[in-house]
Amino acid sequence: MNEFELIARYFKQQATERADVNVGIGDDAAVVTVPRGYNLTMSIDTMVAGVHFPVDTAAADLGHKALAVSLSDMAAMGAEPTWLTLSITMPDPNSGWLAEFSRGLLQLCERYAVQLVGGDTCRGPLSLTTQVQGLVPCEKALLRSGANVGDLIYVSGELGGAGLALQDKLYDDCQLSDSDRNDLMQRLSRPEPRVELGMALRNLATAAIDISDGLLADLGHIAQASELGARIELTQVPKAAVLTDYLALDAAYRLALAAGDDYELCFTVPPAAQSGLQELSQRLALPLTCVGEMVTGHGVKVMQDDATEFVMEKQGYAHF
Ligand code: ADP
Ligand code: MG
Repeated sequence: MNEFELIARYFKQQATERADVNVGIGDDAAVVTVPRGYNLTMSIDTMVAGVHFPVDTAAADLGHKALAVSLSDMAAMGAEPTWLTLSITMPDPNSGWLAEFSRGLLQLCERYAVQLVGGDTCRGPLSLTTQVQGLVPCEKALLRSGANVGDLIYVSGELGGAGLALQDKLYDDCQLSDSDRNDLMQRLSRPEPRVELGMALRNLATAAIDISDGLLADLGHIAQASELGARIELTQVPKAAVLTDYLALDAAYRLALAAGDDYELCFTVPPAAQSGLQELSQRLALPLTCVGEMVTGHGVKVMQDDATEFVMEKQGYAHF
């Protein structure tokens, strides 16, 4: 199978055919039409075997995750994802692996009407790069820099589940039950990008980020870009319920605060937006939890009920 047969067999057949794609896979570059009144957003992510995912991760899960992490960036900008390019580097083209990988990827493409419009295919150690592009009405993109003093800090979903799965995978020391291990591995390898939430936040949130490296680290980026501090109430943090089945309370909170890979959104809103968020949470069937507020100063502080600080030595995943 040569490179062109491979592309035709595994990546060209897609359920999604967008009207705004003038030229898709097959030419030197894709051509798309950006509608008037919209800004184009783009984001790229690379996942390297053994660094960003365990080498034994199922191919279909990798297809899902490679796209999900990029969709999550679109969500954090309030953008509607539209087009995808994909770069695959792999040791040798294995049909079974490619069939599963493209199935996982294209299924998620279909769910969000994202069209794969091109890519690159090379030989080398397994590495996957996705570039997603999206659309957001002009001036409506959600930035990290928009938070104001007194804004409330919200988090979607639950935190720490993916972190517990990773800890168990790496150290095999969590003694998870089989069914909990299954559920948690789903959280790690099949994150749900919060695309609908991000788009709905365009007119509610002042700043947003997706939690890829850990809540403290990522909220720290909002604080820094907004030239403010952030204060979190420890007991408000929506830690995944399963964490305390295996960890002491203290360790459970540490994981929820500093583990990455959950791909939930963290965002800030003016206090008046609270009732709007309640409705949104119901409409999306997704918990949206207020965990604290933006304050003057800098850095992220976590406070306990007795008004003392919960000190964390590690704030999140560091790439280097
Ligand atoms: P070029 O020589 O211009 O780099 P390629 O031979 O790499 O082109 O690719 C041929 C066509 O297939 C291009 O349209 C490219 O965008 C597309 N393509 C290559 N790899 C992939 C892939 N993994 N997924 C989707 N499209 C791909
Ligand atoms: Mg090429």
